[in-house]
Amino acid sequence: MVMPIYQTAKFTFPSWAELLENHDKKTGFFYSRTSNPTVRQLENQVAALQGRDDCVALASGMAAVTTALLALLKAGDHVAFAYESYRPARSFVRDTLSRWGITSSLFSVRDPDALQALMSTKKPAVVMFEAPSNPVNHVPDIAVLTEIIHRHGALCLLDNTLGGLHVFGEYDVDIFIHSLTKFAGGHSDVMGGAIVGNDDVIAPIKALAPILGPMMDPHAAFLILRGLETYFLRFRHQCATSQAVAEFLEGHEAVRKVHYPGLPGHPSHALCMQQAESFGAVVSFDINGGLREAESFVDRLKLFYVSGSLGSVHSLVVPAQPLFASDYDEQTAEMVGVVPGTVRLCIGLESADDLISDLAQALNGEGA
Ligand code: PLP
Repeated sequence: MVMPIYQTAKFTFPSWAELLENHDKKTGFFYSRTSNPTVRQLENQVAALQGRDDCVALASGMAAVTTALLALLKAGDHVAFAYESYRPARSFVRDTLSRWGITSSLFSVRDPDALQALMSTKKPAVVMFEAPSNPVNHVPDIAVLTEIIHRHGALCLLDNTLGGLHVFGEYDVDIFIHSLTKFAGGHSDVMGGAIVGNDDVIAPIKALAPILGPMMDPHAAFLILRGLETYFLRFRHQCATSQAVAEFLEGHEAVRKVHYPGLPGHPSHALCMQQAESFGAVVSFDINGGLREAESFVDRLKLFYVSGSLGSVHSLVVPAQPLFASDYDEQTAEMVGVVPGTVRLCIGLESADDLISDLAQALNGEGA
């Protein structure tokens, strides 16, 4: 019923000849940096969920981002990535890949014309974006962006961590990235990442990953496999609670703006309805009063854990600007949608009523 934890680094063979055959033809398991049965089970499940041939499971979501980019790019290449990408991913492209002769440019996922212009002038080999983006839920039009990217012969890499493991497989995305630390693991107790794609695209990544070595541990794979058993239940429940929380926040006088695509007034509501079956479990909003008010609001909450990350059974909260946009100047951060008063809520499995009463008391300043 349940895949056991193959807590072994090595596999042994009845004879040297059989070891050699296994090693050369790669017919089975040889060494856990190359492959391990528990990890392989997880890779097969994630590939099936995302609707692609294969998956490489790694030690974290960032290991997935860096390994995929290192395998797909070479010196002299250009990479285009969204302003609205996860900050450490931006930092890897801008500060590390640049040291190895890989240049980069930024575009907004809400501006396909800018991407089109960039494709013609810079001719990137890889284009990377998120759907929806973290922390303020910008929703890219995936069909439009992938069409532009492929018309110019580039590869499309989509970080689907916030979207979920089961969505967007029908789009012409070459490589999906997931932080399995989030919805797949789901319980704040394990780190993991996945790169998912069809055989031809994922082949160079599968070849490079064991050489770089950020492989997933079998115990981590076991915990994530267990998390996957309740993934849909949790995801759907978290999305439904997020909708209720967003609707409550929208009506509150201390809230300037709510960034949740499930609200009919959100600029991406119609696109999101057409593209995804849910609006996600991240609800961000701008509180009146700026960063200082965002910080003291976060401290007044009693049920939300003050913590980064998302997709957990626990509800989490952070002021967004210091964590996600402090590398941008004020104007760029504002264009990306993160202002000093932006607060990110990542909704867990607590009761919606309890979360809403906690938000109400903190917005009304009662816990101060
Ligand atoms: N991609 C996105 C969109 C994320 O939000 C995160 C983490 O928050 C990552 C990648 C990195 O994942 P990990 O923390 O598992 O390295």
